Amino acid sequence: MVAPMDITFLGTGSAQPSATRNHQAMALRLDGDIWLFDCGEATQHQFQKSKLKMGKVTRIFITHMHGDHCFGLAPVLCSMTDNLNPANAPTEDSDDDKVPVDIYGPTPLRSWLRNTLKSTYSNVGRSYRVHELLLQDDPVDTNSDLHPNELPGQNIFLVNGAFDLPLYASTEKGYRVQAAPILHSIPSLGYVIREPDWPGKVNGLVPLIKQNMVALKKLGISNPMSLLGQIQRTNAPYDLPDGQRLEPPPMRPGREVVILGDTKDPSPILPLTHSPTLLIHEATNALTSLDKDKEGNYTMTLEEVEARTKDHGHSTPQMAAAFAKSIGCKTLILTHFSARYRGDEESESLAVMEEIRRLATDVFDQRAQDIYCARDLWSYEIKME
Ligand SMILES: [Zn+2]
Ligand SMILES: [Zn+2]
Repeated sequence: MVAPMDITFLGTGSAQPSATRNHQAMALRLDGDIWLFDCGEATQHQFQKSKLKMGKVTRIFITHMHGDHCFGLAPVLCSMTDNLNPANAPTEDSDDDKVPVDIYGPTPLRSWLRNTLKSTYSNVGRSYRVHELLLQDDPVDTNSDLHPNELPGQNIFLVNGAFDLPLYASTEKGYRVQAAPILHSIPSLGYVIREPDWPGKVNGLVPLIKQNMVALKKLGISNPMSLLGQIQRTNAPYDLPDGQRLEPPPMRPGREVVILGDTKDPSPILPLTHSPTLLIHEATNALTSLDKDKEGNYTMTLEEVEARTKDHGHSTPQMAAAFAKSIGCKTLILTHFSARYRGDEESESLAVMEEIRRLATDVFDQRAQDIYCARDLWSYEIKME
């Protein structure tokens, strides 16, 4: 059985939050855990409005140090590990309370979080550690003078254009996360999350087993259909009594999710991607009907909008779609919208967001039905192909 995977957008706004869009945070549910990507201010409030349990967060990935992506980190860390809160308390059969929370991001995330927790006399109910992804000239934090709940984190350096992140137990299960620096007004990261390949479907083998049902039972196999599970587990062929062979079906490639921080050009991450299942890309500004005057004429050109957007280190829907096309992703979700673009269900808001979506689909028309604009608290199921 392929494990479900989904992502919930806890915040989809950019620098200025609005009544309808909180600051950035995305909760990726996989392997029974929540991996949180960015943690803007009030992310813990958004958790409480969602069906997700903060206590399930095992990893937090920060894309960059702009406040709209990390101001909520210390409060979430304190709340998610608050064992007095029954919603977050580990169940008896879990060892959640012993596993440290792993946090990843650029410098100076580690010292900033440490100073914030220390300055506010905050205790964290679980241990945590911060792994910093360092560029060549970045200062190296030596893990000295730790917060009482802090464990030493790893310093990870760029090798051949990629950061390989330590995942501990998840690595043993075959998960892999890489990151690369992408272009923004300050150092920013994109993450590539890959799950292991899954055993192929064995339905096609059922008739062969049925043909050998009696002979297999005579051999002492009381439930011959259990061979299906055995073949999936071992990935080894099985010779049937009538001379036919049960061949394990080819493995199904695991899902790949690419989550980008703010960017005007994410091309350095391109070599790490393999036609991902899902790309999440910012689209902060766009040229829409909101930019028309009373006579219905645009007050600026697309070139002007794009130039201004790039000046601030951001992207338009067309830029996001062009990148999505270049990496051949199956699904594109746009997020990190300017406060001008409301994220509620009013017909005017929906119409503007559909305009923005269409600007992207015009560029990446092969996947037009697989392009979405995120809204706060919206969940998207990431299906296997
Ligand atoms: Zn931002
Ligand atoms: Zn930013």
